Amino acid sequence: MSPHFPRRALATAMHLLPLLLLTACAQAPAENLPTTSNASAMLAPIPAEPIAQPAPSFAEWRQALRDEALAAGIDAALFDRVFAAISPDPAVLKADSSQPEFTRPVWEYLDGAVSASRIGRGRVLLAQHNAVLQRIERQYGVEAQVLVAIWGLESNFGSNIGSHSVIRSLATLAFEGRRQGFWRSQLLAALQILQHGDIAGERMIGSWAGAMGQTQFMPTTYNQHAVDFDGDGKRDLWNSSSDALASAAHYLQASGWQRGQPWGFEVRLPAGFDYALADPEQRRSLAEWAELGVRPIAPTGAAASARANLLLPAGHRGPAFLLLDNFRSILKYNNSTSYALAIGLLADNLLRPTEVQGSWPRGERQLGRSERIELQELLAMNGFDPGPADGIIGANTRKAIRALQLQLNWPADGYPNEELLKQLRGR
Ligand code: CA
Repeated sequence: MSPHFPRRALATAMHLLPLLLLTACAQAPAENLPTTSNASAMLAPIPAEPIAQPAPSFAEWRQALRDEALAAGIDAALFDRVFAAISPDPAVLKADSSQPEFTRPVWEYLDGAVSASRIGRGRVLLAQHNAVLQRIERQYGVEAQVLVAIWGLESNFGSNIGSHSVIRSLATLAFEGRRQGFWRSQLLAALQILQHGDIAGERMIGSWAGAMGQTQFMPTTYNQHAVDFDGDGKRDLWNSSSDALASAAHYLQASGWQRGQPWGFEVRLPAGFDYALADPEQRRSLAEWAELGVRPIAPTGAAASARANLLLPAGHRGPAFLLLDNFRSILKYNNSTSYALAIGLLADNLLRPTEVQGSWPRGERQLGRSERIELQELLAMNGFDPGPADGIIGANTRKAIRALQLQLNWPADGYPNEELLKQLRGR
């Protein structure tokens, strides 16, 4: 899941919620390229790169790529063997350009991601792999249940690793997808993995966007973070669960994971709470949150000095969570708050049953993409500054929504809903 890109391919893309991306303008998708299968990032509209003219044929393009690959040290025979039967894949291009109108609400996503069956399977695997997980935890400082949660969401514990030829997918995207430069570097990294001997070319399969193996690493992430933990000399994230789990741990370690710290926890808010504080930019110590009346649902074991921000994944009508630094490490794996929340909740549930206590606003309809764009346009017309009308609710749009909500004397949670859109339409 890291550029994380469409790891589990489209299925994933459909349930990640652009609404909930922490992605502010500072993290626009163009700068925030996925490291694993970050399907969510794929949903964002991406400005087309300037097109050189005339466009080369695939054969001409492949020849130029061959020159570049060989200059980078790729063996000519390997390149020719791998590219012998490669042609662009129209299905991959279609997936790349897809911008779904509707995404699942966060509670539906969590119902699937943290289902009873996934928790049950995860607990069995946590016990089965206990010995290797303990070794990994000692070496990389990442708790076993977090790794098993990632394994569960990325590939359903290794059972769903995608079936696309990674080279063909990446060649298609590098030849004519959006952000060709990004895909070209992924393709060259994939060739390096083949040259390294980690996997044979025909067995290098993954999501339509090239996310690979049980952890759904993109090739550049793979080259940086994949490790051979079972000691057979190969970093095999397809067939070795030990390699996959240790690689996920290595990646989280590099992303700043702090052993022994919770990712976050559910909280209750006091009456009359100022919802403007529920913003990624509002980070406070747990002691300060406590002074504001924010109370954990259960004892947390986190230090009072630990810093956290408050998340209302479904606005003020839904549950509330305080998120600590480890949540940010999970976001580096896959930059979607829904995903990171699912990892945290699944990991907790692998240890002990932990139900979300707040109730989700299940009756509330989510705005579709065109409605979110309309909302942004109407906000701008009414003198607010939501940023570009791209259907993505980032920091600027949240701020604009809050400003409108304050003007209306509504709870200023920055959350877009139908009521707000209707209000704007009536102006
Ligand atoms: Ca290995």
